[in-house]
Amino acid sequence: MEHTNIGDSLIQVKNIKKQFGEKFALNDVNCDINKGEVVFIIGPSGSGKSTFLRCLNLLETPTSGQIFFEGNELTKKGVNVNALRQKMGMVFQHFNLFPHKTILQNLTLAPMKLQGVSKADAEKEAMRLLKRVGLEDRADAYPAQLSGGQKQRIAIVRSLCMKPEVMLFDEPTSALDPEMVGEVLGVMRELAEDNMTMVVVTHEMGFAREVASRVIFMDQGQIVEEDTPEELFAHPKSERLQNFLSKVL
Ligand code: ADP
Ligand code: MG
Repeated sequence: MEHTNIGDSLIQVKNIKKQFGEKFALNDVNCDINKGEVVFIIGPSGSGKSTFLRCLNLLETPTSGQIFFEGNELTKKGVNVNALRQKMGMVFQHFNLFPHKTILQNLTLAPMKLQGVSKADAEKEAMRLLKRVGLEDRADAYPAQLSGGQKQRIAIVRSLCMKPEVMLFDEPTSALDPEMVGEVLGVMRELAEDNMTMVVVTHEMGFAREVASRVIFMDQGQIVEEDTPEELFAHPKSERLQNFLSKVL
């Protein structure tokens, strides 16, 4: 995919470390993410990919280092974490929709409660986005009535209803049956085409190669290599990346 609209810096990560006991899940990570970039993070299990994403929206507090979002330091004491999280949509492996609420209620709850959007406006926006992912006919269904792929598309829409500045994805297709992976990747591809800033952790290497503007390879809590997908997949420089790619491609 061509990425012609990459803009100014949105997120800056400076020397972050995250320690769990003796273990460094992140060990001095530096990274700049610009508006409109689609950054994929790949790497072996346990390399720190999820911890990195979770530090970006402060689901984890870095042990040291700084993170800036739109020029403001997030890692300072007293930052309004809730306001920040609204600007960062996050989609996980598991969708966590409210089971006793309809799809439309799931989608309108946060904009109404957290952003003071009127019910009419929240529903209008939810329906517009549902239509975009081809699920407008499921607005009154309950989560249990949907397939895994449909639920994950709803989870993406739920994040989009908050009008985030960036979308973070942590292995959004890993828990899905194979036949449902494509429909979720399709929605993510459209978001990328619409110039959404995205950070995506995935094992879908083909998808990363097609959609990423940049791919980051992590191992043992560090960024080992980063480059355009063309370059990174065709000419891995480090032995660690060569070894990793030989196992997953
Ligand atoms: P990945 O997403 O790449 O598989 P993670 O970020 O989940 O890796 O984990 C990186 C390392 O940090 C792993 O060794 C993991 O066991 C450890 N880790 C992650 N979260 C915790 C936690 N809450 N408590 C203790 N160790 C953790
Ligand atoms: Mg993970």
